[in-house]
Amino acid sequence: MAPSRIMAEADSDSPALPIFPTIAISVPEAVRLGFKIGIAYHHATGMSESITDTFGRRLRDLRISVTDRCNFRCRYCMPREKFAEDFEFLRREMLLSFEEINRCVAALLPLGVEKVRITGGEPLLRRDLANLVAMLSAYGIDMALTTNGALLSKYALVLSKAGLNRVTVSLDALDDETFRGMNDMNDKKMSLQQILNGIESATDAGLEVKINCVVRAGVNEHVILQLVEYFRHTPHVLRFIEFMDVGMTNEWRWDEVVTSERILSIIGEVYPLNPIKRSYPGEVAERYLFADGGGEIGIISSVSKPFCGDCSRARISADGKIYTCLFAAEGHDLREVIRGGASDEEVREFMRNIWHHRDDRYSELRSATTTTAEKIEMSYIGG
Ligand code: SAM
Ligand code: SF4
Ligand code: SF4
Repeated sequence: MAPSRIMAEADSDSPALPIFPTIAISVPEAVRLGFKIGIAYHHATGMSESITDTFGRRLRDLRISVTDRCNFRCRYCMPREKFAEDFEFLRREMLLSFEEINRCVAALLPLGVEKVRITGGEPLLRRDLANLVAMLSAYGIDMALTTNGALLSKYALVLSKAGLNRVTVSLDALDDETFRGMNDMNDKKMSLQQILNGIESATDAGLEVKINCVVRAGVNEHVILQLVEYFRHTPHVLRFIEFMDVGMTNEWRWDEVVTSERILSIIGEVYPLNPIKRSYPGEVAERYLFADGGGEIGIISSVSKPFCGDCSRARISADGKIYTCLFAAEGHDLREVIRGGASDEEVREFMRNIWHHRDDRYSELRSATTTTAEKIEMSYIGG
């Protein structure tokens, strides 16, 4: 394999695609490339349309789940007893192929999408993921991936070469016992060190790395200061997430939420913090700088201080359903639309209709009634 090219394996879901196209490209490749440059130009020049929902919120971010499977069983997301051996995950033919995902992204970009995040389940379990990254990175948009980090050492370099810009690694502990308590993995081959190595490989590969930690009362609160001390004075932004009532299986309770206020006071007592502005509209984390110059941290207060007012995210599940809220019960079948032969304009019209009717603000309305309502699982919809 030439160093500047990644070729898809014979049984992968996508045809070979050059990461850095050479002069000797085939005609279909040239057409495809020209089309992509056209879209990137269209996008970069601001010639895209901007669609708004019933609250005037734009569509800016696409989160794409590439699998509903995972090699962890985090108790707050996929509790082992609910996602057991006999759990029926999506079958291969139900998943959007990389070509289909690429098609959806190409069609939706002109609606104002600026960022794409690849997620899951565990996205690094999807075979040849770098081929998808290479396809999407050709559009010149901000491309990120969320992962539990277990396979990151193996794939960081190839993903970076394929055009990935950023990676968010979920890390809820800094000792093996708490790590296993959070992800419920007793597999001795899966160690905390593997995740730390993955973070190092991603950094070495030139990826921007953020760290996400879900805090659950009575389980890993002690990790807050440990993580702060580990990641201060590194280029990595550490972000704490409140435990959320996503899905129907994690037995969420209010008293297990460690609020952002509490997290900030635990950190601030030892390392004083100064708030700074969000870097872009719709950013989910509130940002703080250590007063002593130790770097930046973020807090995602999805429960105690909801941020629905700015929410510009649409999610596409691994089987091609569009969800306009993390807490939605029903999706809109985009896979049927594209497999039915819709044109790009028809795909856009499908999305415009969905977005124009969007009135989601689950977290702002959170109450005893909403928390028990039917909701889709986070591992399926993509975090
Ligand atoms: N498997 C990948 C990972 O863990 O990073 C990507 C998918 S995971 C569903 C995406 C993010 O959702 C992770 O950062 C995870 O910690 C977060 N998450 C999952 N369940 C959550 C919950 N109940 N409350 C808060 N965050 C949650
Ligand atoms: Fe898997 Fe991520 Fe969910 Fe943990 S949070 S079970 S790693 S999908
Ligand atoms: Fe967006 Fe729904 Fe979360 Fe509100 S609850 S921020 S609308 S995903």
